[in-house]
Amino acid sequence: MKSKKFDVVVIGSGPGGYVCAIRLAQLGFKTAIVEKYNSLGGTCLNVGCIPSKSLLDSSHHYDDILNNAKKHGIEINGEVSLDFKKMINRKDDVVSQTVKGIDFLMSKNQISVFNGKASFLEKNLISIEGCYETLSFDKCIIATGSKPVNLPFINLDKKRIITSTEALSLKEIPKHLIIIGGGVIGLELGQVYNRLGSKVSVIEYSDRITPFMDKDVSRELNKVLKKEGINFYLSHQVFQVKSNKKTVSVIAKNKKDEVISFDSDYCLVSVGRKPYTEGLNLEKIGVELDSKGRININERFETSIEGIYAIGDVVRGTMLAHKAEEEGIAVAELISGQKPHINYNLIPNVIYTWPEVASVGKSQEQLENEKIEIKVGKFPMRALGRSRASGDLDGFVKIIADKKSDEILGFHIIGARAADLIIEGVTAMEFRASCEDISMMSHPHPTYSEAIKEAALSALENRPLHI
Ligand code: FAD
Repeated sequence: MKSKKFDVVVIGSGPGGYVCAIRLAQLGFKTAIVEKYNSLGGTCLNVGCIPSKSLLDSSHHYDDILNNAKKHGIEINGEVSLDFKKMINRKDDVVSQTVKGIDFLMSKNQISVFNGKASFLEKNLISIEGCYETLSFDKCIIATGSKPVNLPFINLDKKRIITSTEALSLKEIPKHLIIIGGGVIGLELGQVYNRLGSKVSVIEYSDRITPFMDKDVSRELNKVLKKEGINFYLSHQVFQVKSNKKTVSVIAKNKKDEVISFDSDYCLVSVGRKPYTEGLNLEKIGVELDSKGRININERFETSIEGIYAIGDVVRGTMLAHKAEEEGIAVAELISGQKPHINYNLIPNVIYTWPEVASVGKSQEQLENEKIEIKVGKFPMRALGRSRASGDLDGFVKIIADKKSDEILGFHIIGARAADLIIEGVTAMEFRASCEDISMMSHPHPTYSEAIKEAALSALENRPLHI
């Protein structure tokens, strides 16, 4: 068998892998990337961030026409109808255009692309399924990502009992969609189908949705989604899920041990994701995993085997595309002798529901548990002229700062465009800004960002201007 030699081989072409390959090529390394599927871009581009945002945007337009157009004086004379197939096709087009962009970037940066599942033969040699060549290298970056977690008693038939991947490509709008898990993915897809007319029921084990978010923010999001018609069953433990060809029955227990049965036509299991290392043959070369199946790495992203690195969802930390990208860049720069730095406390979390939710730094609960003396400033979106103009009145900005030094420690937004606004919090915290710093900065009027200045003024001296 022929073998091709590279300086670095990247396994996996998600946002971690492909960004890493680009940075390696920029730094002068002869680089190859291996992707198991024919389409580059990984979970994020193919079955994650991009398709879910496409459906969120399409369903948002539909919902606006149905529920908000009238308020703006827009009368739709005639029937408003939905072509779900076209919506799904548009989503597929968005994905394929985005994937083509990655193909272009690989070729522009002279990165060799191989399609097929990579497997280690030796610590500096891999085979690729269906390919007659092996690849040898000085260094290898594993960026094989993650896959959905299932509960042990559920048989995911992927027809009626589905994961997010199938939920992004359904052939019909569910009449009743049960979602097990009130995390980011479940809520985003729940809002899509709720807007399209499905009855949506979210069953969550914890006593609140998005338990990793600041409590106030979770509560507000829950309130808004409930108002829109999503049913929530919190503190409910699902213990049986069965599919009968066209229906699914789900049985759960509440806090009082009462048994509740649900009948639906689809059940989305979205209880998290787990690292994906199947078929890599890591045992053969001695790359160690931790108790959660993640590849063990040191602070230089190096695994237990010298010259083999791992990044993104397959290692510790939050499973987010931008975290994977930062690690991809950092590992390439480390290999080239530079000294990159990632501040993991400043990786923002975002939920793309509407209102959007975005946060960076610590929640009030976390800071209180750490016994840090804090002050909190909060400002409601509805007090802004911009919010009244658009009609997006829900949500608030909450800034948490150190009581004595005024340094910002947590930045939480729920409201229109929160996903784009959060970068002000990231920038402020990266430069260790205080509430006073933010309160002295000019924020354009009328924008949603004014709520940030107002929240900073509230935290600083309890002197917001507009409430
Ligand atoms: P992945 O993107 O999972 O890519 C890994 C790649 O490796 C895959 O293409 C896989 O086929 C390939 N691979 C695996 N094994 C092999 C092998 N042996 N040989 C060759 N190739 C292999 N994150 C956000 O930040 N924002 C969002 O809005 C967001 N929305 C999401 C919505 C959904 C529905 C889902 C499921 C996820 C979402 N995420 C979001 C999470 C995000 O997609 C992941 O955090 C991100 O894709 C991780 O990047 P990665 O490069 O580590 O791995």
